[in-house]
Amino acid sequence: MNAEIISVGTELLLGTTVDSNAAFLGRVLAECGIGCTNRQTVGDNLDRLTAAIELAFKRAEIVVTIGGLGPTLDDLTRDGIARALDDPLILDLELEGEIREIFATRNLKWVESNARQAMRPTCGEAIENRNGTAPGLICRKNGKVLIALPGPPREFQPMVSGPVRQLLATLGNAVIYSRVLRVCGLGESRVEELVRDLMDGENPTVAPYAKTMEVHLRVTARAETTDDAANLIQPVAKEIRRRLDWRVFGTDETTLEAAVIHKLRKCGLTISASESCTGGLLGGRLTSVPGSSESFVGAVIAYTDAVKVQFLGVLPTTLDAESAVSEAVAKEMAEGTRKKFATDFAISITGVAGPGDDDRGNPEGLVYIGLATAEGTTVTKHQFGKGRESIRNRATQAALTLLWERLQN
Ligand code: ATP
Repeated sequence: MNAEIISVGTELLLGTTVDSNAAFLGRVLAECGIGCTNRQTVGDNLDRLTAAIELAFKRAEIVVTIGGLGPTLDDLTRDGIARALDDPLILDLELEGEIREIFATRNLKWVESNARQAMRPTCGEAIENRNGTAPGLICRKNGKVLIALPGPPREFQPMVSGPVRQLLATLGNAVIYSRVLRVCGLGESRVEELVRDLMDGENPTVAPYAKTMEVHLRVTARAETTDDAANLIQPVAKEIRRRLDWRVFGTDETTLEAAVIHKLRKCGLTISASESCTGGLLGGRLTSVPGSSESFVGAVIAYTDAVKVQFLGVLPTTLDAESAVSEAVAKEMAEGTRKKFATDFAISITGVAGPGDDDRGNPEGLVYIGLATAEGTTVTKHQFGKGRESIRNRATQAALTLLWERLQN
């Protein structure tokens, strides 16, 4: 397989920006056993960009574009690809939702032109951009592959070193085999710090992917056969588990809720929940696991103060004195739930999902999670930033992480 690189941007032609990205990509292509036969540089001009892509496809099976994926009108790469592939652009609503979430999490103001970044040809799929907002693209058509990457090097390089490198390796002549170790209870930078030296390895490679309060470590080996690749992965995966200990909750597709339910079943323990700001998300995730009824007994969506009092026995005086979003109420909710459902564990979630602070002055994103057991009740306080959806998802994830950690003892 041969590849051709197209760098897009008038600043590259003017010489005000040196094309370091193409050099970086050239090295990666070579390491993956793919020959880079030509490079082109074009300015921010739709006709010339379209012609450059068409020409590249006459000479190579893989075409990689660099730059021009941003939200502004001079970012024309998506349009050029659509034209050259004769495949119309569509607005990917799921992708738009993800981009909006990035804006919300980073407290950035949403401007409608940002939706351009969620446009893709029908044959395209997005590559996650962990360091910016414009996702990359992989388009497959007529046996050929086009990969579109963002220009800023701090976005471009991690994308190339991670998912793009893995794709390119599969396009070369070898078996590429990956296992994903799923990690909870640690931030991405802390995970990186703990496995930094393993990430320097070339075969297998170790690449972290940040998810919502989870980190996925993908360990990928290249070998002649899958068994050989698995044998290369095995000692590295073992070392990661040794270093991160209980925080590795599963491999590949195992979700945190599945790991929790499996552990509860194994230990013969039961659980119940009361949810205020998450409104049933925790129960939803736990019951999505087949066989969860053996361990998950039930839950109360205790949204209003009245329900907290009536169904869970939270004291009106506590609500008056401390407000619904408080350590004291989370504790009473968890204990009331445990009593009501007669379970080994009970978990409670109360917080401010926003938008904005609540009428008692509790800030958006403040969440308390209670865990009642026979040994007593603990409450943890969290600040999950801004954005209703993000706060609710993070609170649910934190509750599951808390349970998973508690189940290790
Ligand atoms: P953005 O979202 O920032 O608009 P983009 O994918 O549209 O990203 P460009 O607008 O083409 O990318 O480039 C953004 C910046 O990235 C440029 O100002 C330049 O500093 C840098 N850059 C672009 N292409 C390259 C390259 N090939 N090599 C090095 N740096 C580059």
